Amino acid sequence: MAANRLLERLDAGPVVCAEGYLFECERRGFLQAGAYVPEVVLEHPDVVAGLHREFVHAGSDVVEAFTYYAHREKLATIGREDDLEPLNRQALAIAKEVADETGALLAGNVSNTNVFAGDDESRRAVRAMFEEQIGWAVDAGVDFVIGETFSWHEEAAIALDAIRATGLPAVITLAVHREGTTRDGYTPAESLRLLEEAGADVVGLNCIRGPSTMLPLLREVRAACSGRLAALPVPYRTTDEEPTFQSLTDPGRHERPFPTALDPFTCTRFELGDFARDALALGVTYLGVCCGAGPHHIRAVAEAIGRRPPASRYSPDMSKHAFLGTDTRIRAENQRFADRL
Ligand SMILES: [Zn+2]
Repeated sequence: MAANRLLERLDAGPVVCAEGYLFECERRGFLQAGAYVPEVVLEHPDVVAGLHREFVHAGSDVVEAFTYYAHREKLATIGREDDLEPLNRQALAIAKEVADETGALLAGNVSNTNVFAGDDESRRAVRAMFEEQIGWAVDAGVDFVIGETFSWHEEAAIALDAIRATGLPAVITLAVHREGTTRDGYTPAESLRLLEEAGADVVGLNCIRGPSTMLPLLREVRAACSGRLAALPVPYRTTDEEPTFQSLTDPGRHERPFPTALDPFTCTRFELGDFARDALALGVTYLGVCCGAGPHHIRAVAEAIGRRPPASRYSPDMSKHAFLGTDTRIRAENQRFADRL
């Protein structure tokens, strides 16, 4: 069997993976918050293709097919179950087109089903949901499959098993909520060690937590796991008191910031760059950003680990700023005015 492109790249150095397609398409006005189903794949495929291209331009090594929440349960929620297969196949075709034209890796994707309940009936239902989505990803020729945003250890284990049955590498990431454990009571370190032992090629954390409340968990995960690790936080300023983006509160405002009023909590690009450096220092080599990510965040992650993606052509150079700049062409009177800006 030919060597796998994801594993080859991870052997050579870190890999960047942009996530967060739901939030970015929602902000752009092509996806509805609430049900969060990626209907945009069928209705505005050009928007999805464009966003894939922007993320690769910004430094993502992976084009992740936008099949997050394109599963049977979510499609049924909005009465579009008949569109399940066309939506998945189209999402994969769009991603493949961009991966082929850019040389990026192509990833399939399954995620939390929201039907897992720890009983045999839901185990069977969840496995069937994974198998159908993974089957379409295999048909599309993906390099690997991402199983992400699981808050149940056992649901992640079922996804891993279904991915491994295809022979493709599996990247499995957990979503860690306020209590700091999976819903079935494992610490992230315990759960990920078990998933690693069960054959996951990369294990880690994605979504839910911002950089400052994900990093401490990564230290525990690093101590427990010996293999490749992943970290894809949300770009929001979560705190010890409010460690998840769902738990953030905005003083003086009545509405819950999650998911559509998180703007004032957004991390700067520099905070994401710092996170990427810190995570890489811990040995985390699969790095990215989840819900809320913009291309500027992805570029900051890529640059922090020593990359110069095409978007770096336009990385800031404040020396030529009209007032704050230091270039000899900047007028001295404007430089003096800088203090009054
Ligand atoms: Zn996310």
